[in-house]
Amino acid sequence: MNADLVIVGGGITGLAAAYIAAKNGKKVTVIEADKNFGGLLNTFEIAGNRLEFFYHHFFTHDAEINWLVKELGLEDQLLFYNSSMGVYQNGKIFPFNSPFDLLKFSPINFLDKLRFGFSSIYMGKFTSWKQYENISAYKWLSKWAGKSTTEALWKPMLDIKFGPYASEIPLSWMIGRMKQRLNSRDKGDEKLGYIRGSLQVLLDTLLKALLKLGVKLINNTSINEIEIVNNQVEFLKTDKGDTISGKSFLFTIPTNITAKMLTSSAPQLASFLQQTKYFGAVCVILEMKEKLSDIYWLNVAESGFPFGGIIEHTNFIPPENYNGKHIAYLSRYFADDEPLAKMGNKEIEAMMIPPLKKIYPNFTESQIEKVYTFKTHSAATVCDLNFSKKVPQCKTEIDKLYIANMNHIYPDERSTNNAIRVAAEACKSMGMNADFVPKNASLAGKIGFN
Ligand SMILES: Cc1cc2nc3c(=O)[nH]c(=O)nc-3n(C[C@H](O)[C@H](O)[C@H](O)COP(=O)(O)OP(=O)(O)OC[C@H]3O[C@@H](n4cnc5c(N)ncnc54)[C@H](O)[C@@H]3O)c2cc1C
Repeated sequence: MNADLVIVGGGITGLAAAYIAAKNGKKVTVIEADKNFGGLLNTFEIAGNRLEFFYHHFFTHDAEINWLVKELGLEDQLLFYNSSMGVYQNGKIFPFNSPFDLLKFSPINFLDKLRFGFSSIYMGKFTSWKQYENISAYKWLSKWAGKSTTEALWKPMLDIKFGPYASEIPLSWMIGRMKQRLNSRDKGDEKLGYIRGSLQVLLDTLLKALLKLGVKLINNTSINEIEIVNNQVEFLKTDKGDTISGKSFLFTIPTNITAKMLTSSAPQLASFLQQTKYFGAVCVILEMKEKLSDIYWLNVAESGFPFGGIIEHTNFIPPENYNGKHIAYLSRYFADDEPLAKMGNKEIEAMMIPPLKKIYPNFTESQIEKVYTFKTHSAATVCDLNFSKKVPQCKTEIDKLYIANMNHIYPDERSTNNAIRVAAEACKSMGMNADFVPKNASLAGKIGFN
């Protein structure tokens, strides 16, 4: 086998890069360790439909995902709905959908509400991430968004998202996120997108299109060695002992896995890549007879809970799509040295489910019909202070070796849309044309592509 391009990792970054490269007339092979392609977008069967292991939605301004959906002829399947958000704090649920809700949010005093509004608009509309890379979001927000705002909203949100790394997250990340959120609002309401029938529809259609374009898709095969001779990749070795050769090699798998393969053959690059840490996520998914609430997304901003968010999927995509069942994700991010990282599913479920009653007193475990639990150790990169200096060049110092993954999404929020942007930029780095992939205001794919 001698492909023009061998892509390691069949998540959305790898699959989108394969699509763009194949459109450029390249002979492409994609190698995926898992049985199924799709990585974090994978789905399972639930209540007569399919659902993502990890909750997923899109934003109205996500130009790249809109492009891919259209390319695949799925535009009628991309649906946008109003969403509803809430915050649980001091034993109460506060709706959090409009400026009016903010006025009623009692954990924040009046002056800090004004500060919250002004600082959010400043981050979302009037500043650039570049000047805030070495400033901790927590410190900046405490000063400018007010103490009560930071303690009631931002600190719990950063703790939920980054656990032990929360205080090291730069304001740049917050600015990226804020731009994304503010751009998604239309007259105060936030519209979120979802593919009818789940992301499996997108994945299946994309895989079919790739096969039609002649892309070779290899699953159940892990790459575990990169053979480098005279500073050039000679071939890759699979867990089955096969060798894979090609003209270029694009690694879309987590950076720390690629780093391990380079420790002895390219120690300098390996130690650079090892600077990027990942953290994990677990989702316990409840299939229920009754709903918990009317809120789609509830941030649990009170300490002592084993989950940081309750995402009631059927308050976004109606229960009629799931034989009338109600579905909620209990979500939590974790660092790899936390006990949760090693817990089995049953233990996680026993820890996560009972505290729901504190938030929803009417909840009883008898309303749960089935429970499904999914865990990943590479949910996101720990984008700490000055993270841009840790982002590798897509075209590495080793000939024929390219890297494009979540690292390259910083300072934006990692997402499906931004993974497609990164895939497009990677193809450009390899001399291809990707101008047919429209660009939105995404901050992804800007670092590491010089
Ligand atoms: C809890 C959670 C919620 C999210 N919510 C949203 C959301 O609402 N909206 C949104 O747009 N995005 C969301 N995302 C982010 C989105 O899922 C990711 O940004 C995107 O799927 C990343 O794709 P990727 O291809 O870069 O990585 P991955 O999906 O991680 O793909 C990497 C692939 O590489 C494979 N691999 C690893 N090692 C090897 C090896 N040695 N050899 C061969 N293959 C290998 C893996 O099996 C995997 O398939 C969420 C993610 C999580 C975890």
